[in-house]
Amino acid sequence: MQQTKNLYVIGWPIKHSRSPLIHNYWIKKHGLDAVYAQKQVAPDDLSKFIHMLKSDECLGFNITIPHKQAVFAAVPRRDVLANKLGACNTISWRDNELYADNTDGYGFYRNLLDYSDWRQTDQPIIIYGAGGAARAILQAMHDAGAQHIYIFNRTIPRAQKLLADLNIEANILTNSDELNDCLAYAGLLINTTSLGMNGENDVDINLSLMPKTAIVADIVYTPLQTGLLKQADDLGLVTVDGLGMLLHQAAKAFEIWFGILPEVDDELRDLVLSDL
Ligand code: NAP
Repeated sequence: MQQTKNLYVIGWPIKHSRSPLIHNYWIKKHGLDAVYAQKQVAPDDLSKFIHMLKSDECLGFNITIPHKQAVFAAVPRRDVLANKLGACNTISWRDNELYADNTDGYGFYRNLLDYSDWRQTDQPIIIYGAGGAARAILQAMHDAGAQHIYIFNRTIPRAQKLLADLNIEANILTNSDELNDCLAYAGLLINTTSLGMNGENDVDINLSLMPKTAIVADIVYTPLQTGLLKQADDLGLVTVDGLGMLLHQAAKAFEIWFGILPEVDDELRDLVLSDL
């Protein structure tokens, strides 16, 4: 008899993760013999966790804070993109060795296309933030053909390091005046900072400076309508929320494990929304 395959999301502490809800929905929908669970793994136990995994029992796992870098370093094989980004969120097996992928950039871009008609690769885009998520999104937007990318971050050296690490030609906005000037002709603004999470410390950017056709995306999804998205909505700008990125990055991970790219449908979105 074939053994039920396990999948995990690991973190420390593992906060309430929506990944089990998402993946178990697709597992059930596709009639697969697998279970996805969250697992608390202390930093000192990470190596033990990785070494006890067996490919006939476990298909792989997702990683959340604080293990993203440690797992990246510990896994012997990496996809080209994960290697370039220096971070991974999905681990699977290849030839009996653990293999690292990063599906965040895919998730962001796929969702952007679902909720907007972003095609104007010649229009400037502004990425607010220079953390791990910004890294994946910068690479994805660059790969999608964005020709004029601007980065705005509280800590400027971090933005400089991001561009140097990825070897992408983009511009750094060093103060609010430069940001405001750029907003006036930007086609897309993406918040990749944690500002606005749980309704606290909203992003302080004046969106009325943007063209009426601009798109505003936020990758924070608790709450679904962040202060930034509410401001954009009130101004009649196109908005893209962060939940879709979460769902699409998960869909890509699911495809890596099962060879099926599952549908991000309204039923799933509602299921996760009811859990936020
Ligand atoms: P990270 O690596 O820790 O980066 C955090 C970013 O937020 C940095 O740019 C940081 O600026 C900025 N920041 C934090 N506090 C700030 C403040 N008070 N003022 C201005 N900037 C501030 O985190 P991450 O992994 O990139 O995640 C960022 C957010 O995206 C989190 O809320 C996370 O939950 C969310 N996220 C969502 C998805 C999704 O699927 N929707 C996926 C990944 C992440 P400094 O460099 O100056 O510190």
